[in-house]
Parts: sequence; C-alpha cells; structure tokens
Amino acid sequence: MRLIEHVVDSGHHSTIEHISFTFAIAGVSRALSHQLVRHRIGVAFDQQSQRYVKYKEPQYVTPPSIEANPDALQEFERFRDVSEEIYHRFLEQGIPAEDARFIFPNAVTTNLIMTVNLRQLMHMAGLRLCTLAQWEIRQMFKLIRKEVMAADPYFGRLLVPKCVPLGYCDEKRNEDEHCKIRPHKNSVFRVWELYKRGALVEREQA
Ligand SMILES: Cc1cc2nc3c(=O)[nH]c(=O)nc-3n(C[C@H](O)[C@H](O)[C@H](O)COP(=O)(O)OP(=O)(O)OC[C@H]3O[C@@H](n4cnc5c(N)ncnc54)[C@H](O)[C@@H]3O)c2cc1C
Repeated sequence: MRLIEHVVDSGHHSTIEHISFTFAIAGVSRALSHQLVRHRIGVAFDQQSQRYVKYKEPQYVTPPSIEANPDALQEFERFRDVSEEIYHRFLEQGIPAEDARFIFPNAVTTNLIMTVNLRQLMHMAGLRLCTLAQWEIRQMFKLIRKEVMAADPYFGRLLVPKCVPLGYCDEKRNEDEHCKIRPHKNSVFRVWELYKRGALVEREQA
C-alpha cells in the first residue's frame, strides 16, 4: 500500500491501471448513460439493450427542478404516459422494440455494468464530481465514491473534483468563483504575478 501511495503522490499513475472496479449501475436515465459512455479510455461498459429487451413498465428519472414545479411535473408525467402508451401500441402493431423505443424520452431508465481502472476512475470522478457537472451523473459519482471508500478508504479519497489535485479551478463557467472548492486559475495567476513582482522587488532591494 505504501508503494501505491508513493506512485500516486509522484503522479506515476500508470501503476494504478492494474486496480479496477466493476459497478452495477441501475435505474439511471438515458441522459446520464449517454454522458457516461463518452469516456473511452480504461473503461468498459455493457448496457441493457432497448432492441432485445421490451419494456413492460418503463421507469423514469424525474429531475428535481421538474419535481418541484407542479405545472412542469404535470406536463412531464403527461408526456411520459403518452410516450409509454404509444410504445406499447407500436409493439402491438408489430413494430420492433428497436424502433418503438424511438418514442422514449431521455428520462427513461437504463442499467449498465461498468468496469474501470483506478486511473481512469480518478479522471472520470474529477470531471463528474465537479459542481458544474450535470446533477444526476454527479450524484452517481458520489455513490461510486462511497462504494470505493467502503472497499478501501485510500482509493475512495482519490475520487475528488479535478480542482482538488490541480489546486485551482480551470472551468470558464466558474470565473466568478461561485464554487468555492478551489480558487479559479485567473485568481491564482493574478496572485502569482503579484508575488513574482514582489519577489523581484525584494531581490532588487537585497
Ligand atoms: C461538465 C461537462 C460538460 C460537457 N459538455 C459537453 C458538451 O456540451 N458537448 C459534448 O460533446 N461533450 C460534453 N462533455 C463531454 C466531454 O467533452 C468528454 O467527451 C467526456 O467528458 C469524456 O472525457 P474525456 O474526453 O476526458 O475522455 P476519456 O475517455 O475519459 O479520456 C481520458 C483521457 O484520455 C485522453 N484521451 C482519450 N481519448 C483520446 C484521444 N482520442 N486522443 C488523445 N487523447 C485521448 C485524454 O487526455 C482524456 O482526458 C462534457 C463533459 C463535462 C464533464
């Protein structure tokens, strides 16, 4: 374990590609899964087929912003119910499931198996635990961190937003520093410029 800590601290992350985790991910939206499978390196996915698996009772993820708005929720549920009715009608008409599924919203749930090495999991967590990440995938990565933490607290602690190891935030959308986890790089570079100027003055005065 001390060897692993040493290589991680030194940034020699290829060593931790030998450590991998497999997660069973259930009941997430297709909106989430589309984001998840954009990760290409060091990660493998298997996803529930919408071609060969016919939904009897599709399940949906409702975003909290819609949940909290009674009018929006009503519209959401109406659309969801209509699409479900049409889906079943299409199947009755002999339309294959792979085509009938075109009627589903992004909210419909899916299941996946994800096997990922620790190096890539740190990278993914870095992006997806960022406060600017989409809420559902961020929530899922919080659960992933919890699971990894239970398996090994040292590995769990490596799963943090990317600004933590970087020391600063590089997200354009956080230039106003509304997220306080780390200062924005603009602030860091401003202070660095001031420091350099001060250090030069000190050197000249010496
Ligand atoms: C907050 C947020 C907003 C996003 N918004 C959008 C959006 O609006 N539109 C959109 O299309 N996508 C969006 N994405 C997805 C994003 O652009 C990436 O596709 C996704 O996060 C996968 O990450 P990655 O590119 O690091 O790939 P990974 O597969 O996780 O790759 C890991 C690392 O390997 C290296 N790597 C991987 N593949 C290559 C390659 N082919 N060549 C060279 N190096 C490689 C890179 O260093 C990369 O960072 C968003 C992601 C986030 C987190």
